[in-house]
Amino acid sequence: MEKQQVAAAVEKLKQQGVRITPQRYAILDYLIESHRHPTADEIYQALAPQFAKLSVATIYNNLRFLTQHKIVKELSYGDHASRYDFVTTEHYHAICRQCGAIVDFFYPGLEDVEIASSRLTGYQLDEHRLEVYGLCPQCQKLKEESADENFTH
Ligand code: ZN
Ligand code: MN
Repeated sequence: MEKQQVAAAVEKLKQQGVRITPQRYAILDYLIESHRHPTADEIYQALAPQFAKLSVATIYNNLRFLTQHKIVKELSYGDHASRYDFVTTEHYHAICRQCGAIVDFFYPGLEDVEIASSRLTGYQLDEHRLEVYGLCPQCQKLKEESADENFTH
């Protein structure tokens, strides 16, 4: 599934006359395979062992390039580092407050909200983003376990 997505993205870029450097390929591959919505720095940490001359600046340049070609989507969080997502079907994100893990979920129908917002504000809207926050299953479990420990000791 993921390998097909990587291949499809590469094909899309080729059709746009874009050269696929090994680094560009590796970034795309990591984004798609890891499912982690990584920051540029996380991508750098993951790929540095494979590429002797890799720099964070190279990662940023490639991410900007892939974003411009609508292969990658930047999720910005104000003062915090942007995270990057592979562009697929429209989807939303559940984010863990504790560990920062981001999980995709698919839910239809929010175009309605966009249309309503447009009516209410007079803005011409063409995009929306939904993020829900809380504790991921793993952090819930850790929390329960530590609560148990506090109780027994
Ligand atoms: Zn968590
Ligand atoms: Mn996502």
